[in-house]
Amino acid sequence: MSNRNAWFRRFWPLWLVIIIVVFAWWPGRSIFINTLTEREAQRIADITPAQGAAHTPERLSIERIMTDLHWLADAEREGRAPGTEGSKAAREYIINRFQELGLTPAGTEGYEQAFSHERVERAINVLGSVVGQDPTLRTIVITAHYDHLGVRNGTIYHGSDDNASGTAVLLEMARYFSENQPQHTLLFAALDSEERGLLGAHALFTSGHLDPKTIAFNVNMDMLSRNTDELLYAVGTYHNPWLVRLVQRVQEENGARIVMAHDRPWFKAGRTDDWTLSSDHGPFHEQGIPFMYFGVADHPDYHAPTDTSDKADEEFFRITAEAAFSFTKLIDQVLAEKR
Ligand SMILES: [Zn+2]
Repeated sequence: MSNRNAWFRRFWPLWLVIIIVVFAWWPGRSIFINTLTEREAQRIADITPAQGAAHTPERLSIERIMTDLHWLADAEREGRAPGTEGSKAAREYIINRFQELGLTPAGTEGYEQAFSHERVERAINVLGSVVGQDPTLRTIVITAHYDHLGVRNGTIYHGSDDNASGTAVLLEMARYFSENQPQHTLLFAALDSEERGLLGAHALFTSGHLDPKTIAFNVNMDMLSRNTDELLYAVGTYHNPWLVRLVQRVQEENGARIVMAHDRPWFKAGRTDDWTLSSDHGPFHEQGIPFMYFGVADHPDYHAPTDTSDKADEEFFRITAEAAFSFTKLIDQVLAEKR
């Protein structure tokens, strides 16, 4: 008896591996995983009820944001696929704005950083910075991808929520910070080819254009304009728990329900998607740079030709834009003090 016990104890890592492998292959495991999903769903349901637009301060111009949204998602832009005329027009629009605002060109050629990849012949990121008050601080990178799926079988995929919305907010944030100097230098990066595998964000690092050691933080915005249950996801606190307090402070002055989720493993969250590597913040995370990603819940128009700008919920979009903005202001302050 005691002998057999010793034998079991001696090989316990082996038994553990066998148990895990059997569990992973066992179809019935979903009973357990679903149980956890319900717990996660309950956690989300328990989060502060939305307090509406009146609860949210107004520092960005939703008129300008909506104008940019309509322009970027217009049928004439033909879904902004990399290398197309629509993409070029969108890029020129962004560059013109950066110029008007007096942003410092931060690409390899003016504001542009061109790159290629086996999945895209030629794509171009647009990079401009607002120089911060304190030159000893590292850079905070604000990202939003401006590309979308383009035209498929003769049908335009407008990509309004995904991601004309984040791009429009990026432009308005650039406007604010060009008039109200931040502590850190803020690099505004309108990225290309996100839809083909976060290629624009990867290219920032693989090209050697950005040195990860010089980057303090990444704020990424992708899909902000659609209202599903007044809900905005804040992704990234699981990896950097010190961000929880900051998101809570943003929530105090924001009317949306800001839910910290979609960044935890299945044994915490069940079968909800993990979005840690699902948009341009992913390559930053892989470089060891802390990030915060803001995005709304999935909706039926996601990656569909029906993702058009008339579907944006203007009142809700104003709130989500303010949330991303509040967070950006806060991270600029907090990291300057923390140093
Ligand atoms: Zn997107």
